[in-house]
Order: sequence, then structure tokens, then C-alpha cells
Amino acid sequence: MLTPRAVDLIAAKRRGETHAASEIDWLVAEYVAGRLPDYQMAAWLMAVCFRGLDREETVALTRAMVASGDTVDLSAVGSLVADKHSTGGVGDKVTLVLAPLVAACGLPFAKMSGRGLGHTGGTIDKLESIPGFRTRMTVEQFRTQVEQVGVAVIGQTEGLVPADGLLYALRDVTGTIDQESLIASSIMSKKIAAGAGAIVLDVKVGEGAFLCTEEDALRLARLMVELGTDAGLRVRCILTMMDEPLGWAVGNAVEVAEAFSVLRGAGPPDVREVVVTLAGHLLQLAGPAETVEAGRAAAEEKLDNGAAYECCRRWMAAQGADPAVVDGLGLPRAPVLWPVRSRTTGWVQRVHALTVARAGLLLGAGREGKGAAVDHAAGVVLTATRGWRVTAGDILAHVHAGDETAARAAEYLIAQAFDIVPDPPGETNILSTVV
Ligand code: URA
Repeated sequence: MLTPRAVDLIAAKRRGETHAASEIDWLVAEYVAGRLPDYQMAAWLMAVCFRGLDREETVALTRAMVASGDTVDLSAVGSLVADKHSTGGVGDKVTLVLAPLVAACGLPFAKMSGRGLGHTGGTIDKLESIPGFRTRMTVEQFRTQVEQVGVAVIGQTEGLVPADGLLYALRDVTGTIDQESLIASSIMSKKIAAGAGAIVLDVKVGEGAFLCTEEDALRLARLMVELGTDAGLRVRCILTMMDEPLGWAVGNAVEVAEAFSVLRGAGPPDVREVVVTLAGHLLQLAGPAETVEAGRAAAEEKLDNGAAYECCRRWMAAQGADPAVVDGLGLPRAPVLWPVRSRTTGWVQRVHALTVARAGLLLGAGREGKGAAVDHAAGVVLTATRGWRVTAGDILAHVHAGDETAARAAEYLIAQAFDIVPDPPGETNILSTVV
């Protein structure tokens, strides 16, 4: 093969042409080696957003990303290992509950997570809000922790899928996130490299997700199942609604606190519902449960009898945190706690996820620039959600802010996020199709 030129590949994709697998390999390898500048990779990503990648190109991109680093062999764990990933949502703290819950059900859990992407939060940013929690470890440490503790969650490292770490950070700030092949290859490269054999993917659909329509979300789900099945993995996708934030908290430390409250038997019912559903599917997919219903029942029991809570304490200790954090102790707190009050009386018909997410970004809970720091304490906690009756003057939410100026700006957005109407809204179902 003649050595390609990045500019030719960018122009070819801009014209809608198809790349050979070797060209995609080259592009990814050059970028990871630091020989392809961000501006050329960003231009190629933008061309992909307009022209797309076909199935073979997506397979090639996924393989090239996996090949950019090491892969983990978890066969020494002795049983199938579980993993989970979300396509990105607002208030999505599911992993923080699901990981120790599945482990408490006797199914080892091993996951490589990402940072916040666009308006959506990332598990690694949430975990890094926990004082002392280590999100970086060697492949050997990761494997040993899965064997000994039953649960480990790490971030992208130079060792594992470095291509995704770099591309993810670039996509985050160049408007190149919401393209199905880029999402599928980013997620599935991490899943393939991290070594688990049974994977449940939470495909978010709605205005707070990257893919807003059920049709687009289904296409992404099918693509990810195909990529995983080709790689010999058991993969299932569950579509869940993301028009409104999941749970009440949106941010980093505030979401950790809320997730851990679910492990203590409290917290928002929708978070518990998504967690128990995903756990039911994982337990059935990986084998311990005969049916999804039996898996759900096992998960409910381990949540209610405190086994998942205990497992979370062991997980926190294993990754360097004080287990008391599972009781909500020691998390960073924002200096300003600012109430947002309702101007009207009526029923909350909807809390727009995207608007709440924008308030979170404005407060510093996400990134505006590549590699920027996040404010772990910043965020929003809703005190009224869909179906609640509110009276003018009631508190709709609390803004957790670094200063009063940021709090006031977020207050304006949060007030806009609420649709308050004269009549109570109908029922909705957060769960949709299974692929
Ligand atoms: N999650 C990922 O890991 N990658 C994406 O591209 C989107 C969500």
C-alpha cells in the first residue's frame, strides 16, 4: 500500500467515498502516534458526520481502535465477566449502582468507562469526584481486582484503547459526537478490549440523548450488537428514554450521592428501575439466571438485603476511596446552594433533559475545551419531576454552584427546563425495545 495522505482521505470522505480498511488503520495509528494533528483528525471526523461510514468501514475503525492498545484477557476469572455501557445520557448514574449489584449477584463485573461527552456525563468524571478513587490502573491490577473483589471500573489509558481516549476528547469539543459509526466504534472498541464476555448496552433515545429518534437508536443498537457478535461477545441492547434526566441529580458528586442512595434503599424510582432491568438482562445473558425475570428478582433481593451496598464498599476500598462514601460521606460540596422556584402553579409535564444538561455544563460539571478540568461539586438536583403538582414559589431544583453568578445563570436555564401545565400528564414508560 502506498502511504496515504491525511488530506486525501479527508477529501475522499468529504466526497462520500469509501475507505479501505488499511486506510482507516493508517489514520488511527498515525493519530495515536502523534503524527496526525488534531485539526486533520477533526476534519475527517466532521466528514464522517456528513457522509457516514459503511458497515465494513465501521468494523475496520473498531478493530483499528482495539489494536491501538492492549486487550485484557479475563479468562483467569473462571466465569463469564459482565460489562455495561450507555450511549450517553443526562443524570445517567446507572453504572455506579449496577456494577456492585451485579457483582453481589455473583457475576464479576469489569468495565472501561469514559469521561463526559458533549452535554452528557461520564462515569469516570463521576468516579473522580470521589476523594481517593483511582480510575487508572494497569491491566494486571484491573484483572486482579475483578478476580478478588468481583468489580472494577477504569478509564481509558495509554494501554487500553488509547485511540478512543484521544478521539473521544476531540469529538467532545468539535461537534462530532452524534454519528452512529463513531459512537458504535467508540463503545464497542472499549467493550472488546476490556475482556468481558456478556455486555448490556443502554441505548438512550430522546432529546437528552445523542440519537433523538427511536429509529436512529435502533440502527445504532443493531450495529453495536453486530460488532460485538462478530467479536464473539454476547451483547444485548435495551433502549431507554432520555427526554428527561434520569433520577434527580445531574453533575458528578451529586450523581454519586444519588446512586449510592439507591444502594441504601432510597433514591429515585426510575434509576432503580433501569438498574434492575439491566441487571436482569445481564444475569440472564451471562448465565446465572434462567430468565430475565429471575435475574431481576435476584437483583431486587441483593439491593434490598444490603448485599449490593456491601459490595460497593469493597469496590470503593479496592480503588482507593473511603468506603464511607457509600453512606454519602466525604463527597465534595459546592460553596453555593441556590434554589430555583416555580413562577406558576400546575403540574410538571416535562423537565427537558438537554436544558438541565446545559445548566450543568454552564456550572462547570462538563467540559467546554479539550482536556479542561471539571468542577466535581457542581450540578443540579431536581426537587420536582414529571407528574408533580407545584405551587408558585415552590422549589423546583437546587443549583450547586462555584459562585453566585454561575448559580443565577443556571437558575435561568433550569426554570426554562420545566414545562408546567394545568392538567396532570399521562404515564410514560422509561423502557422501550430490546435488541
Ligand atoms: N459513549 C462512548 O463511550 N462513546 C461514544 O461515542 C458515546 C457514548
